[in-house]
Amino acid sequence: MPHAVSRLRADRLARSAKPFLARGGSRRVHCPGCRLVTSHCICALRPPCDTRAGMCLLMHDIEPLKPSNTGWLIADLVADTHAFGWARTEVDPALLALLADPQWQPYVVFPGEFVAPERVVQQVAPAVDSAGKRPLFVLLDATWSEARKMFRKSPYLDALPVLSLHPGQVSGYRLRRAAHGHHFRTAEVAALCLELAGESHAAETLSAWLDVFSTHYLSAKRNLPLDRESAAHQRLRGLAALKAARPCDAAGPVNSCSGRPQAANRA
Ligand SMILES: [Zn+2]
Repeated sequence: MPHAVSRLRADRLARSAKPFLARGGSRRVHCPGCRLVTSHCICALRPPCDTRAGMCLLMHDIEPLKPSNTGWLIADLVADTHAFGWARTEVDPALLALLADPQWQPYVVFPGEFVAPERVVQQVAPAVDSAGKRPLFVLLDATWSEARKMFRKSPYLDALPVLSLHPGQVSGYRLRRAAHGHHFRTAEVAALCLELAGESHAAETLSAWLDVFSTHYLSAKRNLPLDRESAAHQRLRGLAALKAARPCDAAGPVNSCSGRPQAANRA
């Protein structure tokens, strides 16, 4: 079953009047599971990942078509990932229904200095808060200038708290890529959100998955040799092994192992 971003990409392609040609795109055969050229496919490396948090991606027009889009990687790992194409003049009723669903506590992730202070939060309730709600992170998947416009022109977001991220506030989280002003890659933002929700293993796994994807993507794009023993590969394998050894504990402190009796944790 293709995930939410894969389906959105297929929908967007179907609406294209002419074929989308990525900058520097090649005519080599690409894997439908990961979008990489088949020689660099990462599908077999996809790690297990449990999280109680959800992700809601609002994707700017051609974002789902970009081969380097990292929203795809979020959907690879976070089971409850929803993806919607953004439009100024209309909104998908399914998006409104998701934001109103009482099982979720939505947060719009956006820099706090652009928002009225009373809306801004810097902490997230645990993966399941005392009211039984799970965090749903609304991510604007776009360039920075597009994201600002999307934020201003989406009145259905106005009532939601704004989660303002400061990578330094999360101890132990290493932001490896230089931040371009306010703009991080979408999968990095999602990893920070998971960390704030207390889901450290999922956060680290998503971060490592992004690194492995980037390694394969750049190797294919630049015709460089692919190192399958890179630090990123080893980190991803280590996280998967940890998960296999301790399927509940590794996922985080709070109810992360949905559906399993608590007694299994103490074995
Ligand atoms: Zn693949």
